Amino acid sequence: MLSSNITQQHDLRVADLIDYEAGAWNKEVIWSIFNEEEARAILAIPLSASHPSDSLFWWPNKNGEYTVKSGYWLAKQGNQMPRIDLGSENILWSKIWNLNGPPKLRHFLWQACKGSLPVMERLRHRHITMNAMCPICKEEEETIIHAIFECSNVREIWQHRNLQETINEGPAGSFMERWKWLCEGRNADDLRLIGALAWGCWFCRNKAVVGQTVQQKVMTAAGS
Ligand SMILES: [Zn+2]
Repeated sequence: MLSSNITQQHDLRVADLIDYEAGAWNKEVIWSIFNEEEARAILAIPLSASHPSDSLFWWPNKNGEYTVKSGYWLAKQGNQMPRIDLGSENILWSKIWNLNGPPKLRHFLWQACKGSLPVMERLRHRHITMNAMCPICKEEEETIIHAIFECSNVREIWQHRNLQETINEGPAGSFMERWKWLCEGRNADDLRLIGALAWGCWFCRNKAVVGQTVQQKVMTAAGS
């Protein structure tokens, strides 16, 4: 499935994703547009050294040619796919985009909103692990909300900016709900700070999983 933010960019071409001077994929552009799975899949495609121009390719067929049978197959798939409200996703994406943060921050927030961060609950859902308990505090199931806002590992970061109580008043069903709630009535600077702290919390979480403590660095980087 295509990232929803790309379905609106009708004039985007494969060539726009390539850094011709470096002779490589333009990683920054790819990570800012596609979700993690798609970005990794694109970056795994070797590029031709001869730089051939773009051409139309009908992906359901191996040879790239359209056939009625493959068109029918694709139409049937479409009926079975879950309905996604692209309108509200696009609004959410444009809000993240308008934060004007570094592409990595925007990509992180988008992944968190899409529920794509590899927290334990997500890994259990994908049958990669049986146990969804938070590997750090071992007190609760590790959801994205838990890892970023609630875990004992990150409380200090939110408390440092006096944000913990305010932030945890928001919806706890998913990061997307929480983020949408945070967007209401806050300016881009506040949102960028909250987004950067959330990103810092995720960074601390990933370091804590391998036994490192980096909260102080995150708090220093975010200013006091
Ligand atoms: Zn925890």
